[in-house]
Amino acid sequence: MRKLWTPLLCVLACGGEGPAASDGTTTGSTTTTTTTGTATTEGDATTTTADPGTTTSTPSTSDDSTTGSTTGSTTGATTVSTTDATTGVQECAGELPAHWIDGIDCGSEPQVQVHQYSADTWILRQSLCTSFEGPFMMLLFGSERALLLDTGDGGIPIDDIVHGLVDDWSQAHGGAPIELVVGNTHAHGDHVAGNDLFVGDANTSIVGVGEAAVRQFFGIDGWPEQIVQYDLGGRVLDIVPLPGHEKAHIAVYDPATGVVFTGDTLYPGRLYIKDFPAYVASIGRLVDHLADKEVCRVLGAHIEMTNTPGDDFEFMQPSHPDEHPLELELAHLLELRDAVEAMQEPVLEVHDDFIVYPL
Ligand SMILES: [Zn+2]
Repeated sequence: MRKLWTPLLCVLACGGEGPAASDGTTTGSTTTTTTTGTATTEGDATTTTADPGTTTSTPSTSDDSTTGSTTGSTTGATTVSTTDATTGVQECAGELPAHWIDGIDCGSEPQVQVHQYSADTWILRQSLCTSFEGPFMMLLFGSERALLLDTGDGGIPIDDIVHGLVDDWSQAHGGAPIELVVGNTHAHGDHVAGNDLFVGDANTSIVGVGEAAVRQFFGIDGWPEQIVQYDLGGRVLDIVPLPGHEKAHIAVYDPATGVVFTGDTLYPGRLYIKDFPAYVASIGRLVDHLADKEVCRVLGAHIEMTNTPGDDFEFMQPSHPDEHPLELELAHLLELRDAVEAMQEPVLEVHDDFIVYPL
């Protein structure tokens, strides 16, 4: 069933950086590709030279250069979004690249694209040339530790890349080493394959794979109803149990950026559901938890849709021409909740920006 739906909330929540971003309307991002050197970061304004095998993009200075003042919506010391006083349009503070690597040119495409989303947030994408899954990985910094969410599908030097980013961040913030915490949105192989590369590394902790390990690490006694907070140092994340796609799945809500990281539970693609009742309950709990929060974007771990509404790439397709943007909005989460709650029994249901796909 095709559900015709217009993402009106996107206009309210995220200005011009919604699903239309991939058509070239995204501004303020630059992409630099080099073949040698080491990444260096200087405060928020970054001059970045990528390690071999990576593409690095960084946000430029604010693109709010139009007339009219802006008002900020802040959580703690961080601005989540700004509202242009002239247009009334709200824009999320974080920036997404104009283009993700998409497997179309494996001769020149790096193994991992490294994108700086905000001053303390990086998004990494594994090349489709190395895995048809093309998973995304997130790196979030606080003053005391950094959390890596997912390690990819293997065959990439994710440890070297992430340690490089952590070292650069530390040097740009006084030089003291900080802890790297390696965790996962869930236990599937395309998200945990790189975990072992971090074993034994200095200043590195690994959450562990599976429900028991996740519960123990984050101190979740009442799985899956209990939502806990995890402090990176001045940046407190909400860890939300989210079984359904996989029983150890979590979502992470970051008040500092207003981003909900949803792994494989919600992304522009086929939402494989293993345990349907658990999935429906999880989505409901996540929506309820976010009811009084500011949600600027919903970022999952894959892209499997094209820019044509309701159209997905073939399973295992090695390249993604005309790929849907990564970012979704709170409205998509609400649309997903309404869809699965309305089902009398689990059925495949095609929506414009995702496909409900019970197994
Ligand atoms: Zn996955």
